[in-house]
Amino acid sequence: MMRSRPMAIVTAPAEISFEEVPLPPLAPTDVMIRVKVATICGSDLHLFKGKHPAAQPPVPVGHELAGEVVAVGDEVTRLALHDRVAVEPVVVCGVCAFCQRGDYHLCRNISFQYRQGQGALTPYYIADQRWLHRLPDSISYIEGALLEPLAVCVHAVRRAESALGDRAVIFGDGAIGLLTLQVARLAGMTTVYLVGKKEARLDMARSLGAAAVVDGLKEDPVAFIQAETGGMGVERAFEAVGRRQTLVQALRALKKGGTAVLVGLFEQPEVALPVNLFVQKEITLTGSQGYAWDFQRAIEIVEAGQMKLSAIVSHQFPLREVQQAFELLLEPNSPAVKVAILVDEEDAENGKRKRRDL
Ligand SMILES: [Zn+2]
Ligand SMILES: [Zn+2]
Repeated sequence: MMRSRPMAIVTAPAEISFEEVPLPPLAPTDVMIRVKVATICGSDLHLFKGKHPAAQPPVPVGHELAGEVVAVGDEVTRLALHDRVAVEPVVVCGVCAFCQRGDYHLCRNISFQYRQGQGALTPYYIADQRWLHRLPDSISYIEGALLEPLAVCVHAVRRAESALGDRAVIFGDGAIGLLTLQVARLAGMTTVYLVGKKEARLDMARSLGAAAVVDGLKEDPVAFIQAETGGMGVERAFEAVGRRQTLVQALRALKKGGTAVLVGLFEQPEVALPVNLFVQKEITLTGSQGYAWDFQRAIEIVEAGQMKLSAIVSHQFPLREVQQAFELLLEPNSPAVKVAILVDEEDAENGKRKRRDL
């Protein structure tokens, strides 16, 4: 039996190294998976830069992963060897009032596996059976890893409490913006605009169904939305950047009575807002924290063929090149959108589109 596995750790800002991390014996309801694919998240980039508000180096990195079950504890009933699974990487207490009522994303002691010493960029990963979701045959490992960011978007769209025919604007052309665009349309937001800054990503947003895209560097998104809507604004806005400017623009783009959902993670924790807008326009700003019971919906949507999920993956790297993958993502004019790390390179199913450029 293996005693340890190499794991990617951010040891200092902009530095990842592989360290041997012990592989604990399986608890009765634990499952060990052979990680096949892990995808890199915006929050991983915050960790890499040493600017994550809740975790500082040294810290393991990666929390979006899928793999194959290779060992199960004595009391595991929900999964069997060789099942293909995606991981819901939260750690919750199970006993606080929020957990008791099922709102585990609001757990008073919420944490994530990577903050507890287990990142996704490692060949072997252990999780309790209740946080594993079996993948239908039609869902690839890459798509399995992407269920985590998709669950974030499903949750954000649910938080928006939109109605059929609502118009929406999404600020952010990263993976969360591009996936929220698709989920918003599925949820009945018929006209969805997307504001970004990178040509290649804006093109992708167009192909994923955006009614129009706005290059926020060249054009004022608020003026654009006002012009498109006859000066009314849109019913719903999503902020998936994490900056003051885009949050203010989201509020200004709203129609009276509209709702903005904050999904982006702010490196700067306190920002000034035009507070009178809330009164004058009776608008609502709400936050969206992770996911709860959203993986199930995400799987359902993907299995039904309703998402272009892996379309957002622009590059693939083998595990040993993870440092290069992060550096590519942080290049000033990076061509990368979403990067997949092929943790198990031998798996032919995922080896097809290596390092494909956009
Ligand atoms: Zn993520
Ligand atoms: Zn709890």
